[in-house]
Amino acid sequence: MEQRYDIVVVGAGMAGASLGAALGGRARILVIEAEDRPGYHSTGRSAAFWTESYGGPGVQPLTTASGPMLRELGVLAPRAALTLGREGQEADVADFAARYRDIGVEVELLDRAGIERHVPRLRPGWSCGALEPSCCDIDVAGLHQHYLAQGRRTGVDLWCRAALAGAQRIPAGWMLALSDGRRVECGILVNAAGAWADAVARIAGVRPIGITPYRRTVVQLAVSAAVPADLPLVLDISESFYFKPESGRLWLSPHDETPSAACDAAAEEIDIAIAIDRFEHVVDWRIERLEHRWAGLRSFTPDRLPVYGFAPQDAAFFWFAGQGGFGIQTAPAAADLAARLLLAEPGGAVDPQPYSPSRFS
Ligand SMILES: Cc1cc2nc3c(=O)[nH]c(=O)nc-3n(C[C@H](O)[C@H](O)[C@H](O)COP(=O)(O)OP(=O)(O)OC[C@H]3O[C@@H](n4cnc5c(N)ncnc54)[C@H](O)[C@@H]3O)c2cc1C
Repeated sequence: MEQRYDIVVVGAGMAGASLGAALGGRARILVIEAEDRPGYHSTGRSAAFWTESYGGPGVQPLTTASGPMLRELGVLAPRAALTLGREGQEADVADFAARYRDIGVEVELLDRAGIERHVPRLRPGWSCGALEPSCCDIDVAGLHQHYLAQGRRTGVDLWCRAALAGAQRIPAGWMLALSDGRRVECGILVNAAGAWADAVARIAGVRPIGITPYRRTVVQLAVSAAVPADLPLVLDISESFYFKPESGRLWLSPHDETPSAACDAAAEEIDIAIAIDRFEHVVDWRIERLEHRWAGLRSFTPDRLPVYGFAPQDAAFFWFAGQGGFGIQTAPAAADLAARLLLAEPGGAVDPQPYSPSRFS
């Protein structure tokens, strides 16, 4: 006889792991993961920061609500973020600061002397900046492991090397076929499959939303001068780079966003060259070595807000996808929101309405 669960969650990245942990002990939960180990795709490739302005005002409520929970777990370390503007972009930087101040984010406007204090050997041409003192580094692996451990403690089953291969609708929910030959019955199927979210919807016969994966590249550089440990996360108001210190090295991204198939993403030479060229226009620091390179997929819905809720066409199919570039920093609040919807529990820190799948119907 097939095993039966109340809820099967597809994907054990940050989304599936955090939701499994939020549901553990309150229903019979199975999380299935196609890979050998959880966290192999986007979750294992992030730049590991928590910044209230990242992802835009529509994402900020989830990020801000997650802050206290992440702090309580001890996975945040102070960093600060500095968004730089070139000469002529002073109004853009001021608008950026005003937009986030209006929704309660602390942002300080800086002139050239102010930004030089934070970024040594800054090249000419950069005239202003917006400093967000609240930005932190996140211990991503620690957070992911915390959720997996909490799931284990509360009776959540996790099966790796078990991809969802088929899903047939039955009166009591779903009969699922897995790639390892097992069959499982469940009441609700949760789609937390990251870049594969539309593919999972198709398997279940649910209309896809149009979630598109985009490749993003990061390189780890050793530079000639010591990287100040208190260097903020430095971003460009025009979104052409960001960099931050990491254990005496620098993590640098060209802020690329190349549409991709859902796949095991890898860094391309051209994106690495672009990253280094852009970096050399920001600071006068000699690059000694390129130590690591990687890329991952950031998957967005058409309006770039995540999608959390039951599919309008099928009350046994739940979307938990489209976490874009903010799926780590929003994980606690997003998992709480989704668990409340799944268990029909009122309350919660964030209004679920803006993230409802019904906006795409
Ligand atoms: C370079 C980079 C930098 C980033 N920086 C940050 C940052 O600083 N802060 C931040 O908050 N976010 C950041 N992000 C975004 C963040 O990493 C993602 O939003 C988050 O990891 C998404 O988690 P996920 O669980 O949805 O996806 P994933 O981690 O990709 O997990 C989805 C899982 O589903 C599994 N799966 C797919 N299909 C099936 C199937 N049919 N059956 C079973 N399993 C399946 C996959 O194997 C995968 O493990 C960054 C992303 C990238 C790429």
